[in-house]
Amino acid sequence: MASEDCPLVTLANGVRMPQLGLGVMLINEREQIETAISKALAIGYRAFDTAPVYGNEEGVGQIVKASGIKREEVFLTSKLPNSQHAYGDALKAFNLSMKKLKVDYLDLYLIHWPVPKYDRYCEAWTALEKLYRDGFVRAIGVSNFHEHHLRKIFEMCEIKPMVNQLECNPYLTIEPLRSFCHENGIWPEAWFPLGGPLNGGPPNNLLADQTINSLSKKYGKTPAQVVLRWEIQENVITIPKSSNPSHLEENFSIFDFTICEEDMVLISSLNCDRRVGPHPDKCEDLF
Ligand code: NAD
Repeated sequence: MASEDCPLVTLANGVRMPQLGLGVMLINEREQIETAISKALAIGYRAFDTAPVYGNEEGVGQIVKASGIKREEVFLTSKLPNSQHAYGDALKAFNLSMKKLKVDYLDLYLIHWPVPKYDRYCEAWTALEKLYRDGFVRAIGVSNFHEHHLRKIFEMCEIKPMVNQLECNPYLTIEPLRSFCHENGIWPEAWFPLGGPLNGGPPNNLLADQTINSLSKKYGKTPAQVVLRWEIQENVITIPKSSNPSHLEENFSIFDFTICEEDMVLISSLNCDRRVGPHPDKCEDLF
């Protein structure tokens, strides 16, 4: 396995981003971050998805820096906290993330949630546009934005979002929203790509799903690999989380097989709109 195994997607502004990265939510212990990121880099992961609310930007930055891998070979994403949508607050929050990550630019910065209660995400977007124009971030985007939130951004923006990070997996395929994103030059990126932290147990049992398990036998791959491969072939960027070395390897070993069209349709048919995380119109002060 090597970093070259992972395909790069081209965002609307030409920036290239690994289609598979490591999500680091809930990897908080210093030792755990060190093991996870060092192992991931050795396997070939080059993209890391963090956020201030995960409480690990400092650790992520230190370990990436200490790895000796050139800054331009690593793709770092962070996010704007929900309470920081005012223009000046957004600029400050971005600077704090850069400081914690110990970098002088970010690769991707996302508005974490639209938080309709505040109705300030358009104002926040103007701050992201400024950061982008000033060269502090190579690409800008949103997270948890549904079509109506995106349409509001389109009405006022000078630069369209390049990525929309969304809860997405075979139980929540959000096909119309993903199509809308692609039609507008926005790459969908899946969070809870394996069904979320509770996979294998209630409320989401995606990796124990019978269809996924029968395809796992058919392709000689694990259920997690089948699910992640489906996401890759659906033109979604995916960021499974793990700090377990064998899971990290497993999740990266998905570029040596292809799911046939018929099985892709079968996996997509598992959709039951099962959302485990909060609904974007209801997520308010969480972070
Ligand atoms: P996930 O779907 O990646 O599931 C992770 C769970 O699966 C973990 O409990 C992990 O231990 C387990 N796992 C990982 N690899 C496995 C394997 N091969 N076999 C069996 N189990 C395996 O959910 P997640 O970590 O919560 O989400 C991924 C990332 O998405 C987060 O780390 C974070 O970066 C991002 N995220 C973003 C938002 C947002 O609002 N933008 C919300 C939640 C998560």
